[in-house]
Amino acid sequence: MTCGELTGIAYGNRVFSWCVCYISPEFARAVLETLRQPIETGDVVIARANAHVRYPCKFLLVAAANPCKCGYLPDPARACARVPECGVDYLGRISGPLMDRFDLRVEVPPVEFADLDSVPTGEDTASVAARVARARQIQTERFAEHPRIRVNADAEGALLDRIAAPDAEGKALLLGAAERLGLSARGYHRVLRVARTIADLDGARDIRRPHLAEALSFRLTARA
Ligand SMILES: [Zn+2]
Repeated sequence: MTCGELTGIAYGNRVFSWCVCYISPEFARAVLETLRQPIETGDVVIARANAHVRYPCKFLLVAAANPCKCGYLPDPARACARVPECGVDYLGRISGPLMDRFDLRVEVPPVEFADLDSVPTGEDTASVAARVARARQIQTERFAEHPRIRVNADAEGALLDRIAAPDAEGKALLLGAAERLGLSARGYHRVLRVARTIADLDGARDIRRPHLAEALSFRLTARA
């Protein structure tokens, strides 16, 4: 799926449950910015002189971009002569408000040739899938009395405050980090939702400091 197809939802009534989109800073800024409203609200409103139409388009967006225009920013041996401006200029084309809407930002370093045939480590896919299924079940039960809410990402306001209240240590960590990182109100609430989900994956009833620390780590990319 391309960015252009995704923005097409602004003019149609297709409903996506999820999509994968390669977001390139080469796309026109106006095109990228059209993603902001559907990411935030899960719908698109088209306003005309005598009518407002709301199209549902709730989706999970997975996006990827190179670290800079030449693509070799993390590799000192191959990077262009414009480091670090090459990356700053390139990723700077993605606006702060759009970047703020990405809950999980992960930098993926180049794979070393020596690692290509190494034995995979860590949890296998089936184990992770089982943990995710359990976390989804927890959320289904949590929102049983809220028919319009399926997962933590849908919760807001008083409901979010109730289901994602961290313990005292977690709260102190979050408030300190919010100040240091200059988190927006949107970013603050998004961190809480991610922490709630990490706690669910951990099988934990309460959101504790490690859950919040992990949630915050996903906002600590070079382009925070
Ligand atoms: Zn470069």
